[in-house]
This record gives sequence, C-alpha cells and structure tokens, in this order.
Amino acid sequence: MLKRGRVNPHQCSFCGRSKDDVMILISGMDAQICEMCVEKAQEIIDQELNRHEQADSAGSGKPSGFGDLVNLIPPRDIKAFLDDYIIGQDDAKKVLAVAVYNHYKRLKQLGEPAAGKDDVEIEKSNVLFIGQTGTGKTLLAKTIAKLLNVPFAIVDATVFTEAGYVGEDVESILARLLQVCDYDVPAAERGIVYIDEIDKVARKQDNPSITRDVSGEGVQQAMLKMLEGAEVLVPPQGGRKHPEQKLVKVNTRNILFICGGAFDGIEKVIARRVNTQVIGYGKQQDERIDRENLLQYVNHLDIKQYGLIPELVGRLPVLVHLDPLDLTALCRILTEPRNALVRQYQKLFALEGVDLKFKPETITFIAEKAQEYKLGARGLRSLCEAILTDAMFEMPLKGKNKKGGNELVIDRAYAVEKLERSRIGQLKAA
Ligand code: ADP
Repeated sequence: MLKRGRVNPHQCSFCGRSKDDVMILISGMDAQICEMCVEKAQEIIDQELNRHEQADSAGSGKPSGFGDLVNLIPPRDIKAFLDDYIIGQDDAKKVLAVAVYNHYKRLKQLGEPAAGKDDVEIEKSNVLFIGQTGTGKTLLAKTIAKLLNVPFAIVDATVFTEAGYVGEDVESILARLLQVCDYDVPAAERGIVYIDEIDKVARKQDNPSITRDVSGEGVQQAMLKMLEGAEVLVPPQGGRKHPEQKLVKVNTRNILFICGGAFDGIEKVIARRVNTQVIGYGKQQDERIDRENLLQYVNHLDIKQYGLIPELVGRLPVLVHLDPLDLTALCRILTEPRNALVRQYQKLFALEGVDLKFKPETITFIAEKAQEYKLGARGLRSLCEAILTDAMFEMPLKGKNKKGGNELVIDRAYAVEKLERSRIGQLKAA
C-alpha cells in the first residue's frame, strides 16, 4: 500500500509555495492548493476539453458548439428582420437570407447522425457583395450576425500582404474572430467573417511597374484555403488567456465568409459584356438595359476580368449587388430604420429634456447634400453632426433655463446656416 508522506498544512501541495507567498490556500482532506495552481489546473482542463471536442467533431463531422443552430430561421423571417434595419437592397437581402439559411442548414445536416449516408455534400456558400461605398454592405453583414448570435468579425483586406512582407498575414482574419469570442475556438469555428474592400486585392494587371504583386494575387492565393475550409494555425496575437499557447488551430470549414467591395470601374467591364451580348439580338433588348445601374447585371466573369483570380471567385459562389442609394432611399435611411439617425438624435436630446423635431424639408435637404457630396449613406451622420453640434453644445444650459415646452424644430433654413459654417459644408461636390 502507498504510504503518504507528511503533509505540510502551510504550503501548496502542488507547487510547494508557502502560505505567506500566496493569496489563497484552499485545504482539502490531505492537501492544499493555492490560487495560482487552481488557475493553471483550469487552463489544463479547458485545453483538454477543447481537444476532446475537436476530436469528436472531426470524427462525426459535427460542428462543435452546434446546439443553438437547431431552430433554423427561414429566409423569409431573416429578410423581415433585415428590413427593420436596412432600407431597400431587396435583392441583396433575399440572396443573403437564402445563403445564410443554407449555410446553417448545412451545419445542421452535418450534425445529424443520419447525415453522411448518401454522397450529397452541401457545399459552403460564401458571399460576395458588390456595391458603391456607403450602400449598406457592412451593415447587412453586421445585422445578419446580430440575428444569428454568432461571433462576427470585420476585417479590411487592404492591410494584408503576402506572408513575409510588411503588413498583416491573412491568418490574422481568424485571430480577429478568435478575439471577439474570447478565444472560444468552437464558437469561432461557426462564426461569420466580413472581409471588406476585397476589390483592393485584385490583380493589378494594368500597372507595368509592379514586378511583385505582394498585396494582390499573393493575398488572394493565401485566402483560398481559408475560404474553402482548412485547418489554419492562427497566432492569437496578445492572447490573454493562453499566453503559453503559440498557435491556435482553427478549422474554417464552417465559417461563413462574406466579402464586400465597391469594385470601382467594374461598370465598364459589365457594359462591355452587355454590349457584346446585345449585338445580334436587335435594338429591343438594348432598351431594356438599365444603364444607370449596370451593377445589377454583374456576374462572376466580370469579377474575374476585374482581377480576382478564378479560384477565389469560385469560392465566393453567392454574388450579390447593392443598388446605389437614391434621394428617397437616403430620406428613408434618416428616419425609418430601428436605429435611424433621426431617432438617435431625438433620444440624445430627449435625455436633456428637449423634444427634437426635423421638418420634412430638412430631411430632404440632408439627403440632397449627402448625394451632392457623393458620400452615400455614410455622409448622413457627418451632415447631422454639423447641423446639430451647436444645439448639442448649448443644450444642457437651454434645458435648464427654459421654462416648459423644450422643443427644437430644425427647419431647412437652420440646417443650411449651420452647414454653411461647418467644415463639411465647405466641401465642394466632387
Ligand atoms: P458599405 O457599403 O461601404 O459597407 P456601410 O454598410 O458601412 O457601407 O454603411 C455606412 C452607414 O450608412 C451604415 O452604418 C448605415 O448607418 C448607413 N446605411 C448604408 N446603407 C444603408 C441602408 N441601405 N439602410 C440603412 N442604413 C444604411
């Protein structure tokens, strides 16, 4: 029989630190443990559980952290949810709703024990958004992530360079995702990543001075595997919880990638294609083409022509265009969404006891200016700030001094005057 040595009740039985060197010493039947060893033990348990979970999910094809995907939200309901936050862009919403629904249906199918009996494997449906800046690409991705309650990270493709060059490696996309879910690998493995400005890594075929395209084709090549689904070793970058863990293995098989870009100038590529197609079909067909919004005809060939390599285009099977925002859409964006700008400012003012009102003519004026400055919906906030800064500066005083009826009505003349004096008002339309 094993004979236990004498236990010193004044020291940690694991690391041997004395009672005076630690903050807490927990006593058990025959042993003591200090808070540092408890922490270390917890880390070991986390790592072990993680390892088991990964091994299980690899064996069964079941994505880890799968439980809450069981109740799938049908595309119609997904679109209705998006309608609350995003104005217009009906095509984009519909396509995105279906893509996300299919993606999660695929995850669900992988999780079912009967799955895998036939040979039909539903492929990943990564998405590519094309639309001018400020038309709601990021907003769509953000809103869908809110609905699905999964980790969501936004990254900018412009910072990436080929491995070994100055700039970020493509793997840092996943580091960002890990950071938002506090290094919960199974959660990250079913998250959504939005890669903005994907058009900026297009091959620069027109520029003869470039001998090595480190931020273009090389980056696209590096993205390929990740988008398709692979085990990627990710440097956690300042990982607080696992400082000793150098690289974290993340399987991207079930991560939904949404890429977005303005693809400036792609209209020319589309026009060329559309024009060639029209030849031989007579004039009638040509008349049906909406030349104001050529983006709606975009296809994968155009994207290839623009400079994305065919392999990458192939990994972004769902292609969605976003419409340019017209005056009516901009007015609606100001007032209608759940967290519309006008509502936000009204809330800010209400907190000071002021009832803020915008006349309809002011709303039209702000939308006109956003259009004139070519700022898209993104410019609406800067314009509102410029118009309301003075009022916000004085507001607390006004609120206290004024007796009853604290109402501020913003009419067109007020908005024109404030805007003219502001920096943004001095911008000339491009
Ligand atoms: P981008 O297409 O450049 O990614 P964003 O999605 O970042 O544009 O849009 C910038 C801001 O403009 C959003 O935060 C949102 O307030 C507003 N916005 C843009 N498009 C829409 C839209 N269709 N409906 C509602 N708000 C919009």
